[in-house]
This record gives sequence, structure tokens and C-alpha cells, in this order.
Amino acid sequence: MKEKLYTIPVNEAFDNAGECGFCALHKKLEREILDYVMGPSYMEEDIREDMDRMGFCQDHYRQMFAAGNRLGVALMLKSHMNHTLKETERLFQKEIALTEQKKKPFAKAPDSPFGAFEKGREESCYACFRMQRRMDSYFSTFFHLWKTEPEFRDKVLGGKGFCLSHLKEAMDEGKKRLNYKDYQAFLAAILPLQQENLKRVESDLDWFIQKFDYRFKEEPWKDSKDAVERGIQKMASLLLDKKD
Ligand SMILES: [Zn+2]
Ligand SMILES: [Zn+2]
Repeated sequence: MKEKLYTIPVNEAFDNAGECGFCALHKKLEREILDYVMGPSYMEEDIREDMDRMGFCQDHYRQMFAAGNRLGVALMLKSHMNHTLKETERLFQKEIALTEQKKKPFAKAPDSPFGAFEKGREESCYACFRMQRRMDSYFSTFFHLWKTEPEFRDKVLGGKGFCLSHLKEAMDEGKKRLNYKDYQAFLAAILPLQQENLKRVESDLDWFIQKFDYRFKEEPWKDSKDAVERGIQKMASLLLDKKD
């Protein structure tokens, strides 16, 4: 298989993709980006500006805090707060000025300058933004390999399908990147594979549940030991760290 540098991560992720190769790519990318945010990003002026403006979502704050690098989080947070304070300084004055202009600014909820700013801030996350951009390029690479490398196609078709959310993204991207006939062939190959593998995880869960019945206590676990983790991944794209 001819390897170009940019195809390597996607190709490798589908070597041992588990329940979804895109989840594996997403998890690796997330770790890289959060490590970068809490570390060397501090040296990059333009990146810091983006981070200061966007901040982070709850999930990414939670992950950064859990990673234990409190100094890294403190540096990033102080910088984001410093930026935000300049904005609130200006916007709070505007809010007060509005109440002076109109007798009842709250009666018919006029556009709140701070409200608009805060909504934008809550909806933006530097890590999500960076990841979305990179995931887009991974989907594009996926279809490039799908079209040009039969070995890659065989690898995907020999795998376990995707999580439902990444399947949806793959279908959206496929519509853009494949012609009508190729998209039809893609769906005809992928959707039965997907259905078969959803059923497989469901039956693993079924056996997992049965194992809690004393009558099956001595029976082997078969493939069900991590059925809950794999079920969560299939349904919610969350790739949990394996226990034991
Ligand atoms: Zn996935
Ligand atoms: Zn985020």
C-alpha cells in the first residue's frame, strides 16, 4: 500500500479499529491537543489569542483538570479570564447604558450585548474547534483511501463498523466526496456491516446481563466482559479506558 504522510494516521487507526476507527482517531487527537493546550501552546502568540477568545467547553475543562496539570490549566485560564475581563468591562457598561436609554429594557428583552457575547463564549471551545478541523481532514483522507486503495477498503469491510455518530458523519462526507454510484456502493457495503456489528454488541450486552444470573455464574464471559464500554462507544462515541 502506497503511504503518503497524511494518510498514515487514518490507515493505522483502521488497522486495529475496535468498534470505530474514527473514535480511536478522535481520542488520540484529543489527548494531543489538550497536552498542547496545557503546555507548549503558551509560546505561540496567535494560538494563545484564539484560546483566549474561545475558551473551552465543560467537557474539555473536566478532562484538563483531571489530567492533573494544574499549572498548565491555571496559565491558560488566567489568560482567558484576562481577555474576558476586557470584554466584560466594555459590555457591562453597555448594559447599564441601555437601561438608561429605555424605560423598560427588560419588558421586551432587547438584544443584550453581554448576552450575545456570553452565548458565543459558551458555544465555543478551542479544543473542539481544533479537533473538528482535524477530524474533517481525517474523513477526507478516509474517502481518498476508500477510493484509491482496495487494501484499505478491505480492511474497513473486515472491521466492526463505526459508532453511530461517526457513521452519520461518514455518510455526510461520502455524499460530498463520492459520485452517486460509488456512494451507493459505499452504503451497500457499510450499512449491512454496521447493522451486523450493532447486533453483535447488543448480544454481547445480553450475555453480560445474563452473567449476573446465578445460573450462568460459572459460564465463560465469552466476548462480553467489556460489552458495556463497547456499547457506550457504539451509541455515544465515547472511548473509555479499559478496566483490568
Ligand atoms: Zn466513532
Ligand atoms: Zn470542547
